[in-house]
Amino acid sequence: MNSHSISLVQPFVDRKTIISVTKVLQSKQIVQGKKVEEFEQLLSKTLGSPFAIVVNSGTAALHAALLALEVGHGDEVITTSFSFIATVNAILMTGATPVCVDIDPLTFLIDVKQVKGAITKKTKAILTVDLYGQPCDYRELRNIARQHKLKIISDACQAIGASYFGKPLTKYADIVCLSLYATKNIMTGEGGVVLTNSIRIDKKIRRLRHHGQSPERRYAYFELGYNYRLTDIAAAIGIEQLPHLQAWTQKRNDHASLYTHLLANISGITLPMVKKDRTHVFHQYTIRVTKEAKLDRDELHSFLAERGVPTAVYYPTIMPNQPQVISAIPFKKEKFKLAIQASKEVLSLPIHPFLSKKDIHFIATQIKELL
Ligand SMILES: *Cc1c(COP(=O)(O)O)cnc(C)c1O
Repeated sequence: MNSHSISLVQPFVDRKTIISVTKVLQSKQIVQGKKVEEFEQLLSKTLGSPFAIVVNSGTAALHAALLALEVGHGDEVITTSFSFIATVNAILMTGATPVCVDIDPLTFLIDVKQVKGAITKKTKAILTVDLYGQPCDYRELRNIARQHKLKIISDACQAIGASYFGKPLTKYADIVCLSLYATKNIMTGEGGVVLTNSIRIDKKIRRLRHHGQSPERRYAYFELGYNYRLTDIAAAIGIEQLPHLQAWTQKRNDHASLYTHLLANISGITLPMVKKDRTHVFHQYTIRVTKEAKLDRDELHSFLAERGVPTAVYYPTIMPNQPQVISAIPFKKEKFKLAIQASKEVLSLPIHPFLSKKDIHFIATQIKELL
């Protein structure tokens, strides 16, 4: 057995973080203030985005982004069927209709051909999800968006720092949303970020974050807004995380390469595919356990757990098949064959940056023995 226990995720909190958070707690400014401002400047510089606005969750970032593009009642937003529920919930919160489409089985990402087929007169935007940390097919998506005058919002909650043709995703999407939830590649406990190249969108998101308050006059509200502010306590955590982003992403990629090397040629499992024109930040290393395998996905998950290897299923049910979504939009399972198959086969292995090579070897050996 392994000498220490392997965890699926491991949020990083060092002495510097504790000192910095303590200083905020001892100051008179614990809610949105100087630390939030400093964190936003650091995010903008590190991620190569002219504007970065922090909010208190990735879901808040998505909701505010849709509102900033004037998405609301009567509009349709095309999105994937295979993601965390927040993607579809953010659309529903605006009153618009989510139009979910099937995935590309090789990458688990939204299928561009399906996007084309789903466009109607009511379509306002495409909400792409860079699932597991891999960017979508943004060249093709950009072309479709241009032709049909649609906006693109990227749900990059799992893909902070990812790039496409060497460029940050803000080059392709009108708005990019990130999550800083405790298990994401960098975190502030709860938190989110909106990235954009547009000063108009930047201003709008800043108003939405604070009850729609006019920037000129306190306590004057001309539009409906929310309380989506982040605290200085959370920003202080983020400021200590961000300098590690590059090294941690490198570690995740190193782990992924080692897994791909060690798990090659096992009958019944399919390894993640990274397209050449983009960088994958490996928020998850997700394999498929197919019909040819000796065990099914759930059996492999349980037997690995018994051997001290935690794994997870992201996600066991596709979004359009959630009762809460069906109550708004009837579910037709023929439309989502590939996403449904993925939901039955996917299994994510531990990949956080604090695992050692030995851990990866240990995990790969357990999988080989079981299969
Ligand atoms: C984490 C996540 C979100 C939501 O982020 P929160 O910060 O938890 O609100 C949205 N979409 C995807 C794909 C995510 O992984």
